[in-house]
Amino acid sequence: MDARRIVVIGGGISGLAAARAAADQAGAFPGGLEVVVLEREPVVGGKVRTAHDDGWLVEEGPTGFLDNEPAIDRLVAAAGLEKLPADEAAAHRFLVRAGTMREIAAHPVRFVRAGLLGPLGLLRLAMEPFVPGRPASAADETVWDFARRRLGRQAADRLIAPMVLGVFAGDAKRLSLPASFPKMAQMEAEHGSLVRAMLAKRRAARRTGASVGGPAGPSGWLTSFREGLAALPAALARTPGLRVETGVAARAVRPHPGGGFVVEREPGPPLEADAVVLAGEPWAMAPLLRTADAGFARLLESIDCPPVTVVALGYARDAAGAVPRGFGVLIPRGEGYRILGCLWDSMIFPDRAPEEHVLVRAMLGGAVDREAGTWDEERAVAETRRDLARLMGLAAEPVFARVVRWPRAIPQYELGHRDRVRAIERRAAGLPGLFVAGNALDGIAFGRAAARGVAMGEAAVRFLRSTAPGDA
Ligand SMILES: Cc1cc2nc3c(=O)[nH]c(=O)nc-3n(C[C@H](O)[C@H](O)[C@H](O)COP(=O)(O)OP(=O)(O)OC[C@H]3O[C@@H](n4cnc5c(N)ncnc54)[C@H](O)[C@@H]3O)c2cc1C
Repeated sequence: MDARRIVVIGGGISGLAAARAAADQAGAFPGGLEVVVLEREPVVGGKVRTAHDDGWLVEEGPTGFLDNEPAIDRLVAAAGLEKLPADEAAAHRFLVRAGTMREIAAHPVRFVRAGLLGPLGLLRLAMEPFVPGRPASAADETVWDFARRRLGRQAADRLIAPMVLGVFAGDAKRLSLPASFPKMAQMEAEHGSLVRAMLAKRRAARRTGASVGGPAGPSGWLTSFREGLAALPAALARTPGLRVETGVAARAVRPHPGGGFVVEREPGPPLEADAVVLAGEPWAMAPLLRTADAGFARLLESIDCPPVTVVALGYARDAAGAVPRGFGVLIPRGEGYRILGCLWDSMIFPDRAPEEHVLVRAMLGGAVDREAGTWDEERAVAETRRDLARLMGLAAEPVFARVVRWPRAIPQYELGHRDRVRAIERRAAGLPGLFVAGNALDGIAFGRAAARGVAMGEAAVRFLRSTAPGDA
């Protein structure tokens, strides 16, 4: 029996997780199984890029992942890496209200004192348990509408909208709550109230001795690696038996008349595949399918991915005394700032800055300010410096600067997203042997992308086991 082949398109965490999951089963696969990853860029990792620059360690994309995903644990163990949890300082998170930074305190008295909400906003928030729940079957709802309904308008504008900036660089008034934050929808569906759901979770945690939360909020502890997040994709790409072709772009995926697919690539001759996992960005996967299924392509390219620019600035420690101990700050729109927020990297993980220096990273752009995401480096640095000076008196000249522009950064799960995902899954089912991984469908974060990648890699192997060569 001839060896079968799975081609994974995209060498970000999704594609490498899929490839690793498939390669793990290659040894026991009857007749043999070859797993090939095609990655357009010269290095693997996708949005995960860690730059090491003269003592500075800059995450050009994600900062880390929430340590709540068993699939990540298995990948980390397989890669032989050691997880690095964020410092306790990361528990201190800030929001801007009326021009000043205020800490989001978990303690009710300190929360009230912080002044994030006025008396009416606090009263409305306290009424949350008495707001009737909405059935899970109800029509789609934006994150902002959900927040206003359950928590009140002040909390929606001042607490929830900036949280959406922090996760999606997204607009709370456009994103779908059940698609973007399914756990919140589930909390309401199961308990009728977010507060009641949180109390139930706390009681359960007390019973089992589990932790209810960490610096990244109630669902996990922010985690990375000492050498930066890119260590994981780099290690996965070294999996024995895996063929990773970097600097090779897939150009088209066509069903093969004899079964399976032909993957056109550049450079290189077409590659026959018994199964294909699409693990690139939705806008990058759409053109590959244009000939095979134009409707499928249109669905993928209709997922909006606005630009994000990351501005990393380094300062001498004594010049950066105004940066409070903590994780970072998010800034609601309407406060007059252009940065969406800023992370204080050197307080979150060790060795991010040279001795006696501080590294901060601001984000610009997103769905709420596309223009800022298109600024050139000079303008991005100048505007970021202006904002940091106003926000926390950080007016000193930075001793280090690095700007990274992602012209199409984070997929937006807009209203109607779940219907679009169902339609995409129906189209994929019409091309047996084709699987869609990536973070554009049902999980925006690194950990969720990895988990979906593993699931799609395993599904591809199951598909091959269920089909004899030739009927793929
Ligand atoms: C600025 C920023 C900050 C973020 N911060 C966080 C964070 O702190 N925590 C978190 O959990 N998540 C964060 N995320 C999200 C996280 O980065 C993603 O969930 C994750 O990296 C997505 O991985 P992926 O493999 O699905 O996609 P990508 O990383 O986009 O990888 C897709 C890969 O496919 C390749 N490709 C595309 N087309 C082709 C082709 N035709 N042929 C060959 N290769 C192709 C691309 O070159 C790319 O390498 C952030 C994202 C951004 C942009």
